[in-house]
Amino acid sequence: MTIPHPDLTQTVLDACHTLAGFTTTPGRITRTFLAPPTHDVHAFLTGWAQRLGMTIRVDAAGNLRCRWEGNGPNAPTLYLGSHLDTVPNAGAYDGILGVVLGFALVETLGGRRLPFALEVLGFSEEEGVRYGASFFGSLALLGTAGPMLELRDAGGQALRDALTEFGLDAEALPSAEIAGNALGYLEIHIEQGPVLEAAGQSIGVVEAIAGQNRLDLTFTGRASHAGTTPMLLRRDALAAAARFVVAAEELARSTPGLVATVGMMDVKPGAGNVIPGEVRCSLDIRHARDEVRLAALPGLLASAEQFATERGVTLAVTPKMEVQATPMHPQFRALLHQAAADAGLAHPELVSGAGHDAMVMAARMPAAMLFVRSPGGLSHHPDEAVLNEDVADALAVGERFLHLLAAEGGMHGL
Ligand SMILES: [Zn+2]
Repeated sequence: MTIPHPDLTQTVLDACHTLAGFTTTPGRITRTFLAPPTHDVHAFLTGWAQRLGMTIRVDAAGNLRCRWEGNGPNAPTLYLGSHLDTVPNAGAYDGILGVVLGFALVETLGGRRLPFALEVLGFSEEEGVRYGASFFGSLALLGTAGPMLELRDAGGQALRDALTEFGLDAEALPSAEIAGNALGYLEIHIEQGPVLEAAGQSIGVVEAIAGQNRLDLTFTGRASHAGTTPMLLRRDALAAAARFVVAAEELARSTPGLVATVGMMDVKPGAGNVIPGEVRCSLDIRHARDEVRLAALPGLLASAEQFATERGVTLAVTPKMEVQATPMHPQFRALLHQAAADAGLAHPELVSGAGHDAMVMAARMPAAMLFVRSPGGLSHHPDEAVLNEDVADALAVGERFLHLLAAEGGMHGL
């Protein structure tokens, strides 16, 4: 198959590579929320927006927002974008690719106007690295980022002061909220997982962003001598915790779509010749549908309790976080499927196990995501990559999506 828009695809890839150079750590890509190189990112993308004739602003939350107006003053707005911040030692595509493709999609219009405006969003903060809380950029568009202003980073700087230092006005934060008629939000993002690669496909339509629970479990037994304490007189906290880890794996393997992970375990006192007296471990459990996740969790915790009781160990469970699943909008998903089919591409549905700005935007408007294959399933890593032809496919699907949406007259029925 020939690559549509080969030059524009190359422009997208070149832009990702250029933006990767705007970093606080030479030789690596690190650009956390409002890091000084963000100014360079804005300048580069603003230059592109100017050449396209878009109107440009950086809102009070530090989001870059470039508009291509639609036909008529009351045209609704379709938002396109992703985030411009990165994790430390990041790859060149997580977030950035979706923003850059937004500008490329405006470029495919060749100056034409649509029945809706396009606003390309480069969110200032999604990764949650600097302030330990995510989505400041997209929450500002919903008018709900205010409580985050008092958060402090590792250096003690309040978020509101970081905005001032960047040249923004924290008091103007409410002005970042979306005004007017929102048609919806489309985010193109690398998959950050191995599913599309395993299926041999370039793009996928996100069905839902998984809901998740995170919990801490503490198994408390009794530390005692490994040589002198007979097996039946032990209260081994780690043996109970180990059974729990395996039970979590077995449950997830036997429940389609469920993922469960014990990623952290702290064993005390932690000596080879001492029976473990206390084990603290984490549980992270996710599924695209809340009812599946919420049905699985109580049974798993009951098993943990049983494994503890069998060994004279007590169990304490502390919930740390609960996020509901976010289904993507059915009509937007259907349009993405149609667009991919029109482009001659396979278009599997998949679940996003990671959180994205689309999760936030979905609270205000129809939201959808298109995933692009991640070679090796790799992300949040300097070797993160994309294939040129996959980027071309994403561009083709996005372009077709805009045409289908325009043909529906801006989806008045939404
Ligand atoms: Zn991302």
